[in-house]
Amino acid sequence: MISIKNLKKAYGTNNALTGINLTVPAGELFAYLGPNGAGKSTTIRILTGLTKMTDGQASLGGFDIETEAIAAKRQFGVVHQYVNLDQELTVFENLDIHGQLFGMSKDMRKAKIEELLAYIEMADRADTLIKELSGGLKRRVTIARALLHEPSILFLDEPTVGLDAAIRRRIWALIKKIQQQGTTIFLTTHHIEEAEFLAHRVAFLDEGRIVALDSPARLMAGVGTWAIDQLKDSGMETRYFKDREQAAAFQAEDGFTLRRVNLEDAFLSLTGKKVQA
Ligand code: ADP
Repeated sequence: MISIKNLKKAYGTNNALTGINLTVPAGELFAYLGPNGAGKSTTIRILTGLTKMTDGQASLGGFDIETEAIAAKRQFGVVHQYVNLDQELTVFENLDIHGQLFGMSKDMRKAKIEELLAYIEMADRADTLIKELSGGLKRRVTIARALLHEPSILFLDEPTVGLDAAIRRRIWALIKKIQQQGTTIFLTTHHIEEAEFLAHRVAFLDEGRIVALDSPARLMAGVGTWAIDQLKDSGMETRYFKDREQAAAFQAEDGFTLRRVNLEDAFLSLTGKKVQA
């Protein structure tokens, strides 16, 4: 559904993407994980036509994003990092304008907006002004807007940035529900848990290149299963173990903290740096 070949992007002398290759099959929930500045947004901005690639090729639903741009654009909905709704208009009006841009008839827009507001559990908020909504509700409206023309692909750029933990989990549940109904989802995040919890496969992005790409379970298994952290003057030192007995024996001697390995450990072992600063 998404195909990217040797994708490069330079901003002047800054090589933001240095040759990305990946394929996302239909129905997959794919996470693009990396620290700030890794190139996550740049990739989404290129795929959604907001900025031009320097080199390479990409297609969405089989349509080349440069030579078949209009057809490629109909394949996706996108939720950008910052809420770009009209604050002075109601929820319904914001969605309605978007439907008009996609050439949907008045009746079709009304039916689809009602269906989507029920889907995001905001059926009673159609007439509320955007400026009166909380951050989590605004994010839900941007997701509904992206789904209005029934795209096959949904791009989510840091969908839970700035939201607190409880609200973040509600957005995760909504994202899972959308994927389960057959939409291919491409998600960028620097939240370890978000990728671990949601994604079928995760690409680790560092300094404009993919350093690993696999399921969360396999990426973590490459490091070990258990981790023991010890806080030293020089910072946190972590040791990894394949089995619990080995780790527990070490812990019994020294009394350090035992925990499960997570995707941050996998990223750290591959790049020498953390995803979350
Ligand atoms: P991420 O989304 O992973 O935080 P970005 O894709 O925003 O990373 O940025 C990747 C690199 O490209 C960074 O070095 C960033 O400074 C640079 N960059 C992003 N957008 C621009 C721009 N419009 N002009 C110049 N440099 C940019």
